[in-house]
Amino acid sequence: MARVAVLGAGIAGLVGAYTLEQAGVEVQVLEARHHPGGMIQTSEAGGYVVEHGPNTIRASTPLLERLIDALGLTAEVVEASDAARNRYVVREGNPVALPTSPPGLLTTRAFSIPGKLRLLLEPFVDPAPAGVEESVATFVRRRLGGEALAYGADPFVAGIFSGVPANLSVQHAFPALYEMEQTHGSLLRAQWARRGQAPADTPRYKVFNFRKGLQQLVDALATAVGPVATDEEVKRIIPANGQWTVHTAQGWEQTPQTYTVDGVLSTLPLPRLSALEASPASEAPVLAHVPHPPVTVVALGYPRRNVAHPLDGFGMLVPKVESDLRILGTIFTSTIFPDRAPDDHVLLTTLVGGARRPALTHESFHAVRELVERDLQHLLGVRGAPVLMHYTEWTTGIPQYTVGYGAVKDALQRLEDAHARFALAGNYRDGISVPDAMASGETAAQRLLQDL
Ligand SMILES: Cc1cc2nc3c(=O)[nH]c(=O)nc-3n(C[C@H](O)[C@H](O)[C@H](O)COP(=O)(O)OP(=O)(O)OC[C@H]3O[C@@H](n4cnc5c(N)ncnc54)[C@H](O)[C@@H]3O)c2cc1C
Repeated sequence: MARVAVLGAGIAGLVGAYTLEQAGVEVQVLEARHHPGGMIQTSEAGGYVVEHGPNTIRASTPLLERLIDALGLTAEVVEASDAARNRYVVREGNPVALPTSPPGLLTTRAFSIPGKLRLLLEPFVDPAPAGVEESVATFVRRRLGGEALAYGADPFVAGIFSGVPANLSVQHAFPALYEMEQTHGSLLRAQWARRGQAPADTPRYKVFNFRKGLQQLVDALATAVGPVATDEEVKRIIPANGQWTVHTAQGWEQTPQTYTVDGVLSTLPLPRLSALEASPASEAPVLAHVPHPPVTVVALGYPRRNVAHPLDGFGMLVPKVESDLRILGTIFTSTIFPDRAPDDHVLLTTLVGGARRPALTHESFHAVRELVERDLQHLLGVRGAPVLMHYTEWTTGIPQYTVGYGAVKDALQRLEDAHARFALAGNYRDGISVPDAMASGETAAQRLLQDL
């Protein structure tokens, strides 16, 4: 029976391990932290269910649906409430509802009249020549104008990537937008062309989570793949006589261990992979330079009566131009999933730092809490001390698909081509979302299976 070491037990690693095991491969999963899940972690306290990383999965994929069924999680899926359809963006210090349909664009206060007129000019803007790579900022300003960049793209890029539009590549970070322009010459024309067309795969779940949080998915996968070796840090990956040896340091005492395997599936984040004492990644220095800006997640619970805002939406995002405010945005968690907070209480999850203000993540917990509370008081009319506080600092955050990211993708491909039975997966490959990371784990496992 072939044997494979899966490095990292985030969602990409767990799905990779599951795919290999289902095909009859013996798998050893090695995880540096005390528990599997990587960026996915959920905790429960005082009747609150708190996500430390991702809060929702947007649109299930066939892979996810298959796994949900196979792992017996169907009854555990919780879909977002209807109220979560609204989204707010902050303008002149106030949360303003974004339109939920094209006619709503006429009345929304999120954009000024000149800003709205500029949006309508979009179909008349020439597309960029094929092959020209632009930043998200350049693309959006060119197609939709400066206001759409400031109050649309900027806060969304902060909310999704913890990034800034000037750094990210539209082609790599938002390939669907790039394709719309390339194919139809215009985003509005592309939307128009698609009207009435049923999408090829209608997802079973649109926006969802699980009753006890995303941890349920992780735990079910970890149970299915058998024991995951936790507290075991990979140090070196070395090719040896047609096989691989993986050297680790185990536990508090850093006891050295060696595994000899037929294949390696690495899902280590790029900064960790590049920092190993020995690994094929040393042949691709470009991998060490992908930025992963730090981001801090602050979850605060309040009695409902202490929050003036109706919280009738998914959350609010804060554009950089709203420079008096420090937070990137807040998810109205208990509106999306009412069971996340005890009765008559609400749960608000706020992001701080990212590429916009990385230094804030180095502030003390006290300082971060103070700035979050100050902004929430101003924006949502929050009063009094929170009854729940939870703080997670992600020192290595989300990989930024910056302009020129094609060089990173090429380097990843070259490494796989140059080393037999060595595969790479994770949120740095083909999308940063949980389903994207899962798909990359499955794809990498399937690639290995062809060679085993
Ligand atoms: C704050 C935040 C909010 C997010 N919100 C959403 C959201 O709402 N929806 C969504 O779809 N996505 C969201 N994402 C993105 C998504 O969660 C991640 O992209 C995805 O979970 C990454 O999975 P992964 O397996 O690629 O990497 P990771 O989860 O980072 O897993 C890598 C694993 O490798 C381990 N590791 C590292 N070094 C070593 C070593 N030397 N030896 C052994 N193990 C090692 C790590 O401990 C980790 O467990 C969010 C991310 C963050 C940070």
